[in-house]
Amino acid sequence: MVQQKVIGLIGGMSWESSAEYYRIVNETVRARLGGLRSARCLMWSFDFGEIEALQHAGRWDEATAELVSAARRLERGGADFVVICTNTMHRMADDVQAAIGLPLLHIADPTAERIRAAGLSRVGLIGTAFTMEQDFYKGRLASRHGLDVLVPAAADRAEVHRVIYEELVQGRALPASRKAYQAVIARLVERGAEAIILGCTEIMLLVRPEDSPVPLFDTTALHAEAAVDRALAGL
Ligand code: GLU
Repeated sequence: MVQQKVIGLIGGMSWESSAEYYRIVNETVRARLGGLRSARCLMWSFDFGEIEALQHAGRWDEATAELVSAARRLERGGADFVVICTNTMHRMADDVQAAIGLPLLHIADPTAERIRAAGLSRVGLIGTAFTMEQDFYKGRLASRHGLDVLVPAAADRAEVHRVIYEELVQGRALPASRKAYQAVIARLVERGAEAIILGCTEIMLLVRPEDSPVPLFDTTALHAEAAVDRALAGL
């Protein structure tokens, strides 16, 4: 019997969104194959307190070493490819890819492909400050996919970032924060955004399609579904 490929999930950043990945890969396999079918997968799940401390101290080399170690664990465990279940930690995606013999499925690619397929090119990006402000993510969207990426103004970026770390990764989705995100999205749309990338894997726990006048592209769902596409390819 030809089996599905084994999805290697690097999770725990935070587990609130890793649980969504686990749910989505399993639901997607059931939707495609039916009945009792579910995903073949492994997950390495970090203690996010340790990772967050490295991020906010700017200790990116140590964070990279942690991600490489997790990817190697998954490789030794029998994964066929690797999925990093966070946008922010794609900062070190190239280093992780270089350290393992397995392919890495980059979160920005399925997201950008779906946006292009919808005929859109000017997108607003919300996520952590690292994702909105550094080039590793916006740069890939622009250079590989030809997207024109807008990020919120400084005060909005600070609020989006605060809500992620103080609330969403701790399992809290507050109505006041949903309103704040609606306002941030509205300002991006006023500046010309034709779509919004939910570029942090917990934002889908707070923001729904009805919170935006333009289409939302949820990186969590798109990445998890792309992982299933790869796992089922050739079956
Ligand atoms: N899950 C988030 C993301 O997609 C933020 C947490 C993290 O820093 O990994 O960027």
